[in-house]
Amino acid sequence: MSRKLDEKRKDILENEIGTVFKNKGLTPVSVALIYPNTYYVGQSNLGFQTIYGILNKRLDVRCERAFIPEEEDEKELKRINQHLFSLESGQLLKEFDFLAFSISFELDYVNVIKILDLAGIPVFSEDRDDQYPLIIAGGPCMTFNPEPLADILDLVIIGEGEEVINELFDLYSSHLTGDLVINRDKFLLEAAKIPGVYVPKFYQEQYDEGGKYLGTKPVVEGVPEKITRRWIKNLDDFPTRSVILTPNTEFGNMFLIEVSRGCGRHCRFCMAGYCYRPPRVRSLKSILKQVEEGKEHRDRIGLMGAAISDYPWIDELCKELNANNLSVSVASFRVDSVTPTLLKTLVAGGLRTLTVAPEAGSERLRKVINKGISEEDIMKASCIALQEGMEQIRYYLMIGLPTETEGDLQEIVNLIEKVNKHAKQFRKGGFRKISLSVNPFIPKPFTPFQWEAMDYRVNLEKKIKWLKQHLNKYKNLEISAESPRLTVIQGLLARGDRKLSKVLVSAYRAGGNLTAWKKALGEEGLDFDFYLYRQRTKEEIFPWDHLDWGVDKEYLWEERLKAEKKEFTPSCLPNSCRRCGVCGKEEGN
Ligand code: SF4
Ligand code: SF4
Repeated sequence: MSRKLDEKRKDILENEIGTVFKNKGLTPVSVALIYPNTYYVGQSNLGFQTIYGILNKRLDVRCERAFIPEEEDEKELKRINQHLFSLESGQLLKEFDFLAFSISFELDYVNVIKILDLAGIPVFSEDRDDQYPLIIAGGPCMTFNPEPLADILDLVIIGEGEEVINELFDLYSSHLTGDLVINRDKFLLEAAKIPGVYVPKFYQEQYDEGGKYLGTKPVVEGVPEKITRRWIKNLDDFPTRSVILTPNTEFGNMFLIEVSRGCGRHCRFCMAGYCYRPPRVRSLKSILKQVEEGKEHRDRIGLMGAAISDYPWIDELCKELNANNLSVSVASFRVDSVTPTLLKTLVAGGLRTLTVAPEAGSERLRKVINKGISEEDIMKASCIALQEGMEQIRYYLMIGLPTETEGDLQEIVNLIEKVNKHAKQFRKGGFRKISLSVNPFIPKPFTPFQWEAMDYRVNLEKKIKWLKQHLNKYKNLEISAESPRLTVIQGLLARGDRKLSKVLVSAYRAGGNLTAWKKALGEEGLDFDFYLYRQRTKEEIFPWDHLDWGVDKEYLWEERLKAEKKEFTPSCLPNSCRRCGVCGKEEGN
């Protein structure tokens, strides 16, 4: 390894607390856990850290980490003709038994290809034999639709990994012979029988004579027709908090603790709301135990979860944190459930910008998406923000939502005008800064909008331009918008099928821009229209229908119809409700 790269590796490690170093000779199984983005991004991901902790607790496994190298490091690797290596020991990735990817974003799929290329490992599973590691993956994106990576991955974890990862490695260890070799196919066949484990090569896409997709079905005996999503019944059994601390990451100054998982609010566009059902919370006692550990290392606690303000004991938790002189940050909160105690705690902890996610400018469209936030809530939030001394506010809004009209866009402009006027009642000059973050809507699998067509890129670009023009007069307003070009690629991968594995590799190798994607799709006889801009009928069979999330497809369709009628769906009631199927079936079904 070059001295420069080795010094950088050691420098990263020197800044970490909690790193696990194991002796190569003492553990029969080695895993390189990979976040397909930079160290700075990946090291703040709690799911990634949790799996690192669980695997290294095992006596039979040595788990090390790897990330996408910085640009200059990638150049150096290529210059010295060296393959990518792990962080802890500098071992080449291709020498591990497993490469385990933790994938949270569709746009990181290309980084999976990049890492395999940099590691000197053939990208497609059919080109790899026993001399290469098994390539496995998990994380939110793999749970909702792993198909675009199906020809690349050997095995996928569907759902939450805490329990299934141990079952998988117990099985692997039981298959190891005395001289540490394994019959891979035998292992994979047994693994595919573990609930939550998907081995793509044991399934194939089926088409009728006219080329119509009929579903993805097992092609070997003994594997299940549908792969069940795994989820943890009792979060307290698996404390989820920072395992490795380092200043060199996004949330480097905090000790992160997961407070809750899932969200019961039923926003119809939100993959996170469906992916982690049912909503679950940790006990206050369990969180406080983790706080005790965290305060040894950091004086700031980052509370993680979909909507922290919905946590039932949030005030008690804040009081305890305040009593311990710990400052607090939260991943996100809802304006309609934020308590004065939580807000005061956050302000005392340095919060200077209130973030609100109305998602749509008009009341009508917020009803379509079941956002459950009224204009009154939005105004109340701005009033609270200013009363608490926050002079900045940030709004998250989406464009291209189903049924959106020009009137809905105009309502965004009206909303900003109203907020500005309203704010002047509380502070001379109103907000010092209003940030508007505009994100194009992407239909996601396992949501009521999985049947929807996505808005055309040119339309999205026009809408962003229109908003910028019409909001230009507000000097305190700053608009940032997600690039519709990237949105198109993200949308393609979100609802993609197995044919996209080849497209993904070709597009990446051709530079990864939109032209490269178009060309790569064309080479396979495919196009964006089919994946993105097509309104699906109720009968559509999706490339992810062989995954069983527990949510009834019929329920999702009913939610879609309710969206058309702007009907409200109330929050989850996990102890009594059987609506969507995740918490059990309704009597008689
Ligand atoms: S409040 Fe809505 S958008 Fe936010 S996490 Fe919950 S379901 Fe998703
Ligand atoms: S069954 Fe009810 S409580 Fe359970 S996840 Fe579905 S909607 Fe929520």
